[in-house]
Amino acid sequence: MDRILIRNGLIRTIKVHPLDNVAIPVENAPGGSEFAGGLRCREDIPQGHKVSLTNLKKGDAVIRYGVSLGKLRQDAPAGTHIGEHILELPKAPGLDELPWGNSITVSLPKAPVTVFDGYEVPGNFFAGTRNILGIMSSVQCVAGVLNVAVEKIKTELLPKYPAVDDVVAINHAYGCGVAINTRDAAIPIRTLKNLLHNPNFGGELMVVALGCEMLTLDMLLRPEENISENVIVLQNQQGFHGMIDAILGMAEGKLQKLNRRKRVSLPLERLCIGLQCGGSDAFSGITANPAAGYASDLLVGAGGTAIFSEVTEVRDGAAFLSARCIDRETSQKLARELGWYDAYLEQGGTDRSANPSPGNKQGGLVNIMEKAMGSIAKSGNAPIVEVLAPGETPAKRGLIFAATPAGDFLCGPLQLAGGITLQVFMTGRGTPYGLAPAPVIKVSSRTALKNIWQDLIDIDAGTIAAGEETIEETGLRLFNMIIETASGRHKPWAEVYRLCNDLAIFDPTAAT
Ligand code: CA
Repeated sequence: MDRILIRNGLIRTIKVHPLDNVAIPVENAPGGSEFAGGLRCREDIPQGHKVSLTNLKKGDAVIRYGVSLGKLRQDAPAGTHIGEHILELPKAPGLDELPWGNSITVSLPKAPVTVFDGYEVPGNFFAGTRNILGIMSSVQCVAGVLNVAVEKIKTELLPKYPAVDDVVAINHAYGCGVAINTRDAAIPIRTLKNLLHNPNFGGELMVVALGCEMLTLDMLLRPEENISENVIVLQNQQGFHGMIDAILGMAEGKLQKLNRRKRVSLPLERLCIGLQCGGSDAFSGITANPAAGYASDLLVGAGGTAIFSEVTEVRDGAAFLSARCIDRETSQKLARELGWYDAYLEQGGTDRSANPSPGNKQGGLVNIMEKAMGSIAKSGNAPIVEVLAPGETPAKRGLIFAATPAGDFLCGPLQLAGGITLQVFMTGRGTPYGLAPAPVIKVSSRTALKNIWQDLIDIDAGTIAAGEETIEETGLRLFNMIIETASGRHKPWAEVYRLCNDLAIFDPTAAT
């Protein structure tokens, strides 16, 4: 994708693609101010919003990223603010005849390193980046007891085991009062099962159950794992103190084992990261997301795995994704998963126009087509080797699309279930988001955000809009931070402050 920076006096604009008939000012453009080539603002245009570059007529397509964002409801002479109110949302592309394999990039940039220092997990496809004791509740009923126990473990036991990074309660609202036998119940059930097996928990499994819940232990554990060494059933314990003693006793045994683990040098094939964005603005798609895409290409080129997600954000770019699918099977699964999500939204009486959020729109994103193209930029140029249904784990290495909701705190746990051990999170408007089971590196799309959130943003990609860095330079900086973080030599801010969101589990089934 060509990126043309138009420099002129006071206000610069960025045009992403040669075909574009709109550009975005990199700062607020008051009515009457002048752009390159003598173009004058006809009205106030906020930073990051779109300005028409030529005299556009009612019915004309507004082109950005080289694609149509929709048709104009009224004339928009050069210098007009192209806002949501004058744009018709284009129809969702059909899923029946998606092209596949006709846009495969074989040559990816070469990474400066090919190894990282991680934790081996026997039998696991990927290695860990952290050494954490994860304790899962099988039902919300036990969460109160588990939370008290985890606080005691952290203060009384954890200091004795310095090689263990943390103890995390994996609580959730699933487990009972749910339609456990419906087809889509497979989604929350496999999400929890795969989350429990995330490599950052080191294969030391621990589940606290109640005893009468619908989500039974055999749904979370493989037969050889469903043993008394891994499971505590609260209804079998002697009162509250008996429960706490049992949990602390089992946790101590697990901590002893985890404490003996050591980091070893591993090829990047063993590293799996997630890519997500939240609080996006019009700069996300031209700074933070393409920089993350470049970092992803470096990792994938070196044999590693990167998972990107967020169905409603890529839905309108389905044909672009499908063209990058490595084979027909992968493109068919893409179509199937996007189709499932269309039906899910329809059942809820909504459609994809429910995304973007009001904050996205204030930031200049007019509709989901514009957001989709900016969102897809985070996947770089690598071919898509696999598509995952919500909560599934990969069977391949490389660039993978996991069909998840776009909501940050739903996407996060689903990517963790997919085996990510580190997440890169791009933000324009800003969010203090974090995950307890894995470090999260936050990348800002604008320098203004980095300036007010010095101690929350790890990498500023606003340097790209300012013309101080190229996408590749920022992407390489991010890649190096990914490797340092994965190897335990660097902690991103969210990890330093232990900022972590609730692990919200995506449950599309009916409650009972
Ligand atoms: Ca998100």
